[in-house]
Amino acid sequence: MTWETNQRCSTGCGFYGNSKTEGMCSVCYKNFLQRQISAGQVNSSAEPEVVVDQAKRTRCFYCHKKIGHIGFDCRCGNLFCGKHRCAEVHNCTFDYKADAAEKMKNENPVVAPEKIHKI
Ligand SMILES: [Zn+2]
Ligand SMILES: [Zn+2]
Ligand SMILES: [Zn+2]
Repeated sequence: MTWETNQRCSTGCGFYGNSKTEGMCSVCYKNFLQRQISAGQVNSSAEPEVVVDQAKRTRCFYCHKKIGHIGFDCRCGNLFCGKHRCAEVHNCTFDYKADAAEKMKNENPVVAPEKIHKI
């Protein structure tokens, strides 16, 4: 393959290209290299996706026994085996009393007793 010295820049900018610069003129080749470098920088600086530590999630928070996929999520945010899933057993830090009180309040809003005026 022979390169004609008067071949135009491959980007079509109108300048003469060069076989040593991938058929581009010196200006376009410089831009081309710049783009390649900046693209490479973007790729290398991209942080890898944070992978959730699954190993931690598959152990009982109380006895650290491996429980695989059958762990029980507690309302305290921890995972437990079948033995320790009960709040009383693992000294659960979740405030059930406050939660229950909150629920009662929401479900049974204080209603002012209807005043009966019919006599
Ligand atoms: Zn050019
Ligand atoms: Zn356990
Ligand atoms: Zn709990």
